[in-house]
Amino acid sequence: MTHVIQQNLTRILDHIDILSQQYQRPKNAVQLLAVSKTRTDDEIRAAHAAGQHHFGENYAQELVGKAQRLADLSIVWHFIGPLQTNKCRLIAEHGSWVHSVWREKEMRLLNQQRPSHLPPLNVCLQINIDEEATKSGLLLSQVASLCEQSQVFPQLKLRGFMIIPQPVVALDNQQNNPFHRLHEHYLQLRSQGFALDTLSMGMSDDYPLAIAEGATIIRLGRAIFGTRLAKGSVSEV
Ligand SMILES: *Cc1c(COP(=O)(O)O)cnc(C)c1O
Repeated sequence: MTHVIQQNLTRILDHIDILSQQYQRPKNAVQLLAVSKTRTDDEIRAAHAAGQHHFGENYAQELVGKAQRLADLSIVWHFIGPLQTNKCRLIAEHGSWVHSVWREKEMRLLNQQRPSHLPPLNVCLQINIDEEATKSGLLLSQVASLCEQSQVFPQLKLRGFMIIPQPVVALDNQQNNPFHRLHEHYLQLRSQGFALDTLSMGMSDDYPLAIAEGATIIRLGRAIFGTRLAKGSVSEV
């Protein structure tokens, strides 16, 4: 198990380097976030031993449990799952990054609940780039106003945006490419003076496309740790 995780990490990091050269991205412009939801402490230790320091979790309690049990490791924890207002405190106390903020209320709570001895919490606004009725996130037209509102919260540092797009099917037109659309919007907001430096986009199946379009954080689970078991399944293959 340890061996496979370490091999996967080496292969992915090499691939990131190759893609970065291919798409003329600066060296180290793309950071790998290991998505460790449902993975065991030992799997995380194996990835950490291979040099991986940034880990992402979807459930607040799971993040806190792991952060406490793995406190001997130098891990930067990112929260990437749906935010619930009653879980904001846990995340503000144990996380370094939140990628899934999209309501003013969540920003207010995270700001209030971020302990004053810790540096500001790094925040990405989640954008519902495909305007899906069932998905969390802001519409592109709402982003500038939330960026503006974030400025009044000293315990938050707005870094950029996160998307979970639908699978990209046809790339005949750049407007069909969600990564491209987000990048354009990000550049526009930067030109309006917002100090943004993060595009959190790209998962196991689509990260090359995201790197081509300016991703600065790619979030990979299965590519590092293998297939996730469905809840209730009994055996691992
Ligand atoms: C699970 C998850 C990922 C990782 O997905 P993989 O397909 O396993 O790479 C990335 N981002 C978010 C928000 C997730 O929930």
